[in-house]
Amino acid sequence: MTNLTGMRPIDRKERLQIPRQPVPKQAPGDRISNFGEVYQGYDAETVIIEAERCLQCPDPQPCMSTCPMENNIPLALWHVSQGDFFEAYRSFRQTSTLSEVCGRVCPQERLCQGSCVVGAHGGEPVFIGKIESFVADYVRLHGGLDLKPETSTGRSVAIVGSGPAGLHVAELLALRGHSVDVYEAWPKPGGLLYYGIPGFKLEKPAVVALIERIEALGVRFICNTRINDPGQPSVDDLLNRYDAVLLAIGAGIPSVMRIEGEDLPGVWKSIDFLVTTNLPETDLPAGFNLPQIKGKRVVVVGGGDTGSDCVRSAKRAGASHVMLSYRRTEAEMPGRAEDRGFAKEEGIDYEFLTQPIRFIAGDNGRVAQIEMRRMKLGEPDSSGRRRPVDIPNSEFMVPVDIAVLALGFWPDEKFVKQVEGLNTKRWGEIEVDPDTGMTSRTALWAAGDAVNGADLVATAMASASRAAESMDRYLRILSNEYKILESEMNPTGVAVAA
Ligand SMILES: Cc1cc2nc3c(=O)[nH]c(=O)nc-3n(C[C@H](O)[C@H](O)[C@H](O)COP(=O)(O)OP(=O)(O)OC[C@H]3O[C@@H](n4cnc5c(N)ncnc54)[C@H](O)[C@@H]3O)c2cc1C
Repeated sequence: MTNLTGMRPIDRKERLQIPRQPVPKQAPGDRISNFGEVYQGYDAETVIIEAERCLQCPDPQPCMSTCPMENNIPLALWHVSQGDFFEAYRSFRQTSTLSEVCGRVCPQERLCQGSCVVGAHGGEPVFIGKIESFVADYVRLHGGLDLKPETSTGRSVAIVGSGPAGLHVAELLALRGHSVDVYEAWPKPGGLLYYGIPGFKLEKPAVVALIERIEALGVRFICNTRINDPGQPSVDDLLNRYDAVLLAIGAGIPSVMRIEGEDLPGVWKSIDFLVTTNLPETDLPAGFNLPQIKGKRVVVVGGGDTGSDCVRSAKRAGASHVMLSYRRTEAEMPGRAEDRGFAKEEGIDYEFLTQPIRFIAGDNGRVAQIEMRRMKLGEPDSSGRRRPVDIPNSEFMVPVDIAVLALGFWPDEKFVKQVEGLNTKRWGEIEVDPDTGMTSRTALWAAGDAVNGADLVATAMASASRAAESMDRYLRILSNEYKILESEMNPTGVAVAA
């Protein structure tokens, strides 16, 4: 391996001596007054040095096997270390079309970076995520790749939902020469990348740019269209009009607490709160009103990524005091530790081992107080985490102007029940063949959170890769490009994709 001058080979030992290259960040005092990203990104010289820290481990490389997309990280980092950012981006694109997203939002510390061998040698793991987002941004800002769809196959695909799963399949199938239409319920495409994950984690211009890249391949986004709603096309309509259909509808149904006062004005669902605080009024669906947050006391309930995103959004929107209530301790919190660290730097108060038991209205009918109860940890539950247990007579009041419930999400059972013959699992997840993403209905695939339950961008994309592969094969079978094998027949004798 040569160093950034391209002159001198550097060995494994030398590479271990290179310290992690820091990425410039907005200071906490500055960043709470804007929705810009915390990390400001590497420059070209520094990213090369950081990539040189990669030890180019022999197969099987732990970073690759812990990436849900199985990105060839060592190859991409090798190209970065040579200063060839375009080739590095091509290496990531062998498996992932959304490097600009994954580099920013994947919890790398428990995936690729968590298994980086540099970390096992006592160094800080290679900053893989920051390198990946640098590469994607660099290529975009320098003209992008010359992506050209293959010759048209004459086959058509409808995708329902434009989150990362839908976008990934749309780009892959458009490149293979299929005609792709994406139906989206929100006014703009992007799913949670646009209408969920805040700008301080994933800047909106990066999302807009990737949508434009996909549109340039001929993909049509048909927004403000909720499939299966009255007056809108149904899944069966799509199956009649297109050769293949993908359901990538996410898991957008918020969990509720089922406690008194939960429906009071001033008690928000997390996505509604994030959408209204993060996006311009012009991008909001009809009926969304901007909450007045400036100078208000905000309490967010829930310990996951969504909770972190809500408290940090409230702070940036000018709340006078922001508190997060979680019923276990910090050790059991499911959300990303880095985001929690940022939130603390930004002045968020955490109340661990607390649980709301009712929301109480003030004279104006809006929520004014939350009655909370203190908890302690009991025996482990089925998730292996210690169960929160009530402490009797520990109730206390918290004055509040806005409460936000960030308690998790479920797949949309109502939607899937409307699709005849579509099998689902225990919590409403769509049942698919794990290798192909095929549902129980012919010509109908599913991917993303709708299949996995609420999870991660990278796991949504991994399932989308499998579905895209299978859909492409199916469409080519329809066009007689492949001979249909016995094993590619489903029990009804219809050709299916292997
Ligand atoms: C606040 C928040 C923060 C998160 N932060 C992170 C993070 O930092 N890192 C990470 O890896 N993951 C994060 N996640 C999880 C990640 O966003 C999801 O796992 C991922 O977006 C799932 O992708 P998807 O394509 O399956 O679904 P989604 O992104 O949810 O997209 C589904 C789309 O389908 C549309 N849709 C639904 N029903 C219909 C219908 N009937 N007709 C038409 N369109 C429909 C929806 O409007 C939506 O746009 C976060 C999630 C939330 C809520």
